[in-house]
Amino acid sequence: SRAALFDADSKVKITFTDVAGLEEAKEELQEIVDFLKTPKKYTELGGKIPKGALLVGPPGTGKTLLAKAVAGEASVPFFSLSGSDFVEMFVGVGAARVRDLFKQAKEKAPCIIFIDEIDAVGRSRGRGAMPGANDERENTLNSLLVEMDGFGSDAGIIILAATNRPDVLDSALMRPGRFDRQISVDTPDLVGREAIFKVHMRPLKLADSIDIKKLAAQTPGFAGAEIANVCNEAALLAARRGKTAIDMTDFHDAIDREIGGLEKKNKLIS
Ligand code: ATP
Repeated sequence: SRAALFDADSKVKITFTDVAGLEEAKEELQEIVDFLKTPKKYTELGGKIPKGALLVGPPGTGKTLLAKAVAGEASVPFFSLSGSDFVEMFVGVGAARVRDLFKQAKEKAPCIIFIDEIDAVGRSRGRGAMPGANDERENTLNSLLVEMDGFGSDAGIIILAATNRPDVLDSALMRPGRFDRQISVDTPDLVGREAIFKVHMRPLKLADSIDIKKLAAQTPGFAGAEIANVCNEAALLAARRGKTAIDMTDFHDAIDREIGGLEKKNKLIS
C-alpha cells in the first residue's frame, strides 16, 4: 500500500527529556506542542497558528530528535520523509509522493510532518546543474508549496523541516504562512555536551570513577550523535574487555575511535 511510502509513527515515545541542552529550541518548540494540544486557545482569539518551522543546524545535533519529541510531547502521529529521497526520482513521482503524504496527514491530524534535508528539494529554483536536470526537483518543491498553501492554519498539521544549508533554500519556502520561523539547533558547548552524556549514560552500567565533566571537556566539537556513539562504543569495549562496569579507559578509547572516524570522514570529503 502507499502508506508504506512514509515512515508514519503514531506512537512516538520520545519527549523533551530525551533531548539534552538546546533549551532555547525546546522553548520555541513548546509553543508548537501547545498549538497541537490546544489549538482553540489560539484560534478563538483570531490568531493564525504557524504551519511550519525550520530547524537549522549542523548534522547530528538533534534536529530529528527534536521534531520527534514535539510529536511525543503532543501525543500526535509523526510523518517523516527526507528531501534526499526525492533526488533522481522518476518524473512526477516526487510531486505525487508529497500529495500523498499531505493526504494521509490530513486524515491523521493533528500531526507533525517532518522533512529532513529539505535543501535537497528546496534549493532555490533555477539554481544548479544542467537545464532540465532540476525539473523534477522543482516539480516536487512546487507541489510542496501548493500543499502547504492548501490547508488552513486550523488543520492541525505542523510541518517541521531540517537543514544545515538555510542559505540555499528558495525564498518562497520562507514566506509567511510557510516556514516563517527558524529555530537554531547548534553544536553543543561544554555544558550541552555534559547534558548529552548524561542522557546517553542513563541505560549504561558505569563505574564510580566516571567523570562526566572531564568527558565533556575532552570532546570539543562533538555533536550529540557523536556523543551517543561514544557512549555505545564505550559500553561495547567494556563488555569485550570482560568488565562489569564501564570505566574512563573505555570512554577514552571510544573517544579516540570517534575522532579517528571523524578524521577519516573529513579526509574523504577534502
Ligand atoms: P542530521 O542532520 O544528520 O539528520 P540531526 O540533527 O537530525 O542530524 P539526530 O538524527 O536528531 O540529528 O541525532 C542523531 C542522534 O544523536 C539522536 O538520535 C540522539 O541519539 C543523538 N543526539 C543528537 N543530539 C542530541 C541531544 N541534543 N540530546 C540527546 N541526544 C542527542
